[in-house]
Amino acid sequence: MEKRTIQAIIILMSVALIGICVIQFYWLKNGIDLEAQNFDNQVRYSLNRVKQNLEDDANDIENIKRGQSSIFNKDKDPLEKIFKPTLDGFVREKYESQVANIAWLLNPEYALGTISPPDLSRYLRVELLSQGIDLNYDFGVYSNDEEDYIITNGKFSVVNVSGSSSDSGVSTRLSQSMYQVNLFDSEGRTTVGSLRIFFPEKTSFLLKSVLPALISSILLTGLILFCFVYTINVILTQKKVSLMKTDFINNMTHEFKTPIATISLAADSIGNPMVKGNEKLIDRYADIIKQENKRMLTQVEKVLQIARLDKKDFTLKLVDINLNDQVTIAVENTRLRVNQRDGKIEAYLKAKNAKVLGDQNHISNVLHNLLDNAIKYSPEPPDIIITTNDVANGVEITVADKGIGMSKEDLKRIFEKFYRVSTGNLHDVKGFGLGLSYVKAITDAHKGKVKAQSELGKGSSFTVYLPHDLNL
Ligand code: ADP
Repeated sequence: MEKRTIQAIIILMSVALIGICVIQFYWLKNGIDLEAQNFDNQVRYSLNRVKQNLEDDANDIENIKRGQSSIFNKDKDPLEKIFKPTLDGFVREKYESQVANIAWLLNPEYALGTISPPDLSRYLRVELLSQGIDLNYDFGVYSNDEEDYIITNGKFSVVNVSGSSSDSGVSTRLSQSMYQVNLFDSEGRTTVGSLRIFFPEKTSFLLKSVLPALISSILLTGLILFCFVYTINVILTQKKVSLMKTDFINNMTHEFKTPIATISLAADSIGNPMVKGNEKLIDRYADIIKQENKRMLTQVEKVLQIARLDKKDFTLKLVDINLNDQVTIAVENTRLRVNQRDGKIEAYLKAKNAKVLGDQNHISNVLHNLLDNAIKYSPEPPDIIITTNDVANGVEITVADKGIGMSKEDLKRIFEKFYRVSTGNLHDVKGFGLGLSYVKAITDAHKGKVKAQSELGKGSSFTVYLPHDLNL
């Protein structure tokens, strides 16, 4: 996939995701607002119902009083003197009720005193429950005359010396509450007080109502985000792998082209009538064919090794090895090539206990790979130092060169399969990008570690740690 296409997809997906998040947020906020509106309506409806109940109660009390006074104390009833005194039956009842109404209308403050706290508590509970509201709340009846709460939370309020009621916390909350209803204010009269209610858990109740939607939308958005990041990651990795594979194929073709051409030339030469009789020349050409063949075999072997390591179907032939000896052999094998390029190679065998349990062949390959790289990536005459050191439970081997070095970004990736530093002139140096991944696979198999340090233009050093006994 083109880099631009991937970028476009990332931008489009990001815009879509942000859009989805904004819409989700908007809907959730809308949901909370609707819930809040619904809650407000239900509370206001309940308060009005309670108000009606309280006013009915006040009427009833007045009715009874009026009834008693009309039976036992007719003469002392001032209202009865105003209205018609000789009514009975249904007409009388209606009259009584009207009289009662008028009684508290004439003196509404008196009606406030007729409220029974337990009744008020019960009315509130019943009305709120009938609206499906089952929350804790504070409530109170505020008297305009007293300028304070005469009832709080179902009890007559105790008034302090200072004049304010005892539970100032509740009264402050109630005073701030948006839920209040004026009491005994029928027929447009000025109210004598109000019934107020406050829900401390209102916010959490409202949030709880949208919680399932909130959680599921966060989870689903998270899931989409995860899949998106994962997919992009896979695309980018695949792109990298495919690039590396193309590089690898190019390198391999390049590596094989030369020996194939040489073999072809040598074979043609052997067929040449001028050479046919010359045994010496035939031997030389046969030797060239053999050498080139060997070179190709080594390359193929390298690729196969990595394939085998990849599938993990390799077994280590563990034997006791002295790493100082292995280093000495590898250095001697390399010295000729270093000398050819006027370079120098020095070994410092500082490890006193250099014995490890390991696969001699693989460990020797590891050392050769590191030394090969040190030569390959030194454009000037190579200057290589290889050191062995004792460390806790094992031995450390360091191969240091003063070659081209690497950037920090490249350093992070050199142990990946097929990875080659891709700066222009570097492609002059042959390789498959498999050497260091082989080093890592083998040290890992020996329960060891490999790390690299490098500075661009100054040189690199690779340190391999191998434990004395990988079975411990
Ligand atoms: P290659 O076949 O390309 O040498 P390796 O796996 O051995 O593959 O190395 C991977 C890359 O790490 C190389 O292409 C090279 O860029 C970088 N590299 C390895 N060793 C050195 C070194 N000693 N100095 C500088 N760069 C190195």
